Amino acid sequence: MPTFEAARKTILDQCRRLPEERVPVLAAVGRVLAADVPVPWSMPRWDNSAMDGFAVRSADCAAPTRLRVTGYLAAGGRPGGAVGPGEAVKIMTGAPLPPGADAVVRLEDCDEEGGAVALRVAVRAGSHVRREGEDLRAGEVAVPAGAVLGASEASLLASAGCLAVPVVRRARVAVLSTGDELVPPGAPLEPGQIHDSNSLAVAAAVLQAGGEPVPLGIARDDRASLREKLERGLQADALVTTAGVSMGDRDLVRAILDELGVRQVFWKVDIKPGRPVAFATRGGTLVFSLPGNPVSTLLTFEEFVRPALLRMMGHGRVVRSLRRARLADPIRNKPGRVTFVRVRLSRGPDGELVASSAGDQDTGILRTQLRADGIAVIPADRGDLAAGEAVDVQVTRPGLELEEA
Ligand code: AMP
Ligand code: MG
Repeated sequence: MPTFEAARKTILDQCRRLPEERVPVLAAVGRVLAADVPVPWSMPRWDNSAMDGFAVRSADCAAPTRLRVTGYLAAGGRPGGAVGPGEAVKIMTGAPLPPGADAVVRLEDCDEEGGAVALRVAVRAGSHVRREGEDLRAGEVAVPAGAVLGASEASLLASAGCLAVPVVRRARVAVLSTGDELVPPGAPLEPGQIHDSNSLAVAAAVLQAGGEPVPLGIARDDRASLREKLERGLQADALVTTAGVSMGDRDLVRAILDELGVRQVFWKVDIKPGRPVAFATRGGTLVFSLPGNPVSTLLTFEEFVRPALLRMMGHGRVVRSLRRARLADPIRNKPGRVTFVRVRLSRGPDGELVASSAGDQDTGILRTQLRADGIAVIPADRGDLAAGEAVDVQVTRPGLELEEA
């Protein structure tokens, strides 16, 4: 049985990057650029003014100086003539610097009267001028392959006249619930039946990872039903099934996958909770058979499926960074395997991060999942932990980097 770390590495080693496609910049937000995008021209394209002021020749400007104002240039305007000795041109931010001028004096440092301007400051060559190409030279990479597109990237791409970009395709992820006890949410419940919550939970998690969920509904615990749905799911980039992978006599998922030519890579990982998780492949399709218990389903999705989807979609950063936190409560723990503890996070008196239990850690308790801000990862060699000890926490709650205001 692989350890947590070995299982995750095995999965990531099997992930192939999905093909790229060209999409409009706005549709690329959150996705990974598949090739370097160069700028076709220098940025800025020409020397221009960084301030509203007067374009001058710095050599003329030992303060105090009076210069004759010979013209006016707004952003979008074109220089008329050169600025000659003893002359200045009134210029607005973003307007091209006229020939002859090599500096801009801010309006607030000048007194304008009649057709002349008096400077109240000394002027250095280049002051308040944005130089051609000082940001990027023509042909330089504006946004590199591997970048995740956000507002800053969109801004630069737009400046470079780029309307569409090559990005890695979103992963299509087939989602299948299995179990005779399941009916779709909204359907009336007969005795013994429960609503299939995993389909929606997994689809939501796929969306949050940037993938495209393909819902396959519910397969019964019988060979024909499973065969038909699993075969369909194998057409996707990844297939995520829930339940039916334990030791029960109805737990047929792995057997049918095997009949369909799926190669099992591992079954069961040395973790708690979520031990009965299986990973397999057929061609480039990754198959994750997650445990059915809704808490274990989402935990194993978080630890194994999400990093894999991100890797397939070209991301370099695929696992949550760990934050060090002090334990508010002791944790009873049996050594031997990695244990995941759902925790709430707060700030201690010195501003340090404090992790307290989010509640009953039994996998039957969904409430604890809802209360949790993150998952404390207790290493396999650790026994009981005392209050005040430091633990590593994966922060899972979206928006936790924000504060109330
Ligand atoms: P199993 O892995 O089939 O033994 O299922 C473990 C537990 O998870 C059982 O209590 C199931 O009823 C429950 N379960 C399985 N699939 C789902 C599902 N799709 N939605 C909600 N609960 C489920
Ligand atoms: Mg079952």
